[in-house]
Amino acid sequence: MTREEIQSIQRRIGAEPDGWWGPNSMESCQRHLRSLLPHPSPFPSPATEKMAEYYGPAGEVPLVQVPVPYRMKLYDEDKLVKAVTIHERLAPSLAGIFSDIIAVFPTPQDRDRAGVTRFFGSFVNRPQRGGTRPSKHAFGAAIDLDATRNGLHTPWPTKSAMPLEVFEVFARRGWVGLGWLVWRDAMHFQATQ
Ligand SMILES: [Zn+2]
Repeated sequence: MTREEIQSIQRRIGAEPDGWWGPNSMESCQRHLRSLLPHPSPFPSPATEKMAEYYGPAGEVPLVQVPVPYRMKLYDEDKLVKAVTIHERLAPSLAGIFSDIIAVFPTPQDRDRAGVTRFFGSFVNRPQRGGTRPSKHAFGAAIDLDATRNGLHTPWPTKSAMPLEVFEVFARRGWVGLGWLVWRDAMHFQATQ
């Protein structure tokens, strides 16, 4: 993001708008997004055992298709994504996220700029990157958006494009984003505490 974009995030989260993303901005950002999360969280802790208790065994969870109410494409290609596969317990929540996205980003151009029109995957039965424990994707409890501009290991917000407003949309429905939890992998959102 540009310095101006970072300053605008800082204003929104109540941090000093100096364009420098440091510990104070991180703390304000997490406080801001945590204040939007429902209390108590509707979702389990991210620990594998708690995930399995709530969602079922990794890779064998009940899945449904949630229709996407706006034009979404696969990766950066022209192929349309009409529905997203997700855990059946998350269907109402993901449908709510999609309608909130339309409310916050009303035009196709707004949504394109925000990156929410580029789908990079949801259910995948695989271990976590660099580990052996199941990925949140193996529980059908995660979605990736716009990974081209929000790559793995790419720091947010300095080198990643995911708008704060997208984090806010997910947070209001109880979903957390790695971009603001660990400050990288900003493409990834999961339905956990
Ligand atoms: Zn992911």
